[in-house]
Amino acid sequence: NEGRCRYAFFDSAMEQAFFAATELEQALGNAVGNEEFVLHYQPEIDLRSGTVMGVEALIRWVRPDGELIYPGRFLPLAEETGLIVPMTVWSLREACRQAALWKRDGMPLRVAVNLSGILFRQHDVHQLVTDAIAETGLDPAFLELELTETALIENPEAASPQLAALQRMGVSITIDDFGTGYASLIYLTKLPIRRLKIDSAFIREIDSSPGSRTIIKAILALGENLGIKVIAEGIEREDQLRWLEDQNCQEAQGFYFGRPVPPARLRAVIDSGGLMLPAPTPALPDAT
Ligand code: C2E
Ligand code: MG
Ligand code: MG
Ligand code: MG
Repeated sequence: NEGRCRYAFFDSAMEQAFFAATELEQALGNAVGNEEFVLHYQPEIDLRSGTVMGVEALIRWVRPDGELIYPGRFLPLAEETGLIVPMTVWSLREACRQAALWKRDGMPLRVAVNLSGILFRQHDVHQLVTDAIAETGLDPAFLELELTETALIENPEAASPQLAALQRMGVSITIDDFGTGYASLIYLTKLPIRRLKIDSAFIREIDSSPGSRTIIKAILALGENLGIKVIAEGIEREDQLRWLEDQNCQEAQGFYFGRPVPPARLRAVIDSGGLMLPAPTPALPDAT
């Protein structure tokens, strides 16, 4: 439009992308201040009993116009800008608050919260978690933290003592997306890992890739021999479930059992999936 023999450093697509990113950043900043987030919860199933042992909390951003935005679209920016910290403070507290409420209402479900590895770079994760527990009164045994392999290897000196302290409180640690990171296996014996979550990429290929089947079997054997629980995520079909059961996989999660839903709909998802709830924890006899 400006005539020939000119260089345009921004073409209109770039310009649009640039503005979209700045707008997104600004909107995300506001979202944190206005608490425009919600957590959806997806059941994690004990396959032997068909009982929902816990739920994974998954964050969503509800835009003022009602549009729901999934974490893949805003987490990278949140990590880049540091907004991930107030966001995590919020999600930890919200998940603990909900779990304490469920427990009080006779639904003792462990809640798993995803933590970005970036938090360990500068922040006292132990303190963030301790604060959330103290503010909500949740029994720490009902809180689980999901970390990726990358989160652990990036900063082992910082992560290790914090995770050990959390484990002593009763909080459990899960390695998420297991098998897709670049971590060595030695940390499995050095860190207080309670559970490995097999990445859905392997589950998706059960029917098509002998390699993926071999890796799943190896992870199950690794867990069994190390005394670490193993959960398979991303199960969408019955044939995937049957194969996993044949391999003695004991815990599972995926759309096949139930999609992530707002807390008010969790009960309905559990019922319609024919799943059972854990027995309510008996009230402790009053000490006084
Ligand atoms: P993730 O922790 O590995 O969570 C599993 C993702 O797979 C979720 O996507 C879930 O909705 C989806 N999923 C569950 N079952 C199935 C299935 O059967 N089939 C398929 N195709 N997908 C399934 P979502 O909610 O979009 O979350 C994406 C990622 O964002 C999560 O991966 C996690 O790494 C991150 N994330 C979510 N919530 C939080 C949060 O509160 N804080 C942080 N730091 N990260 C979060
Ligand atoms: Mg997860
Ligand atoms: Mg995962
Ligand atoms: Mg993931």
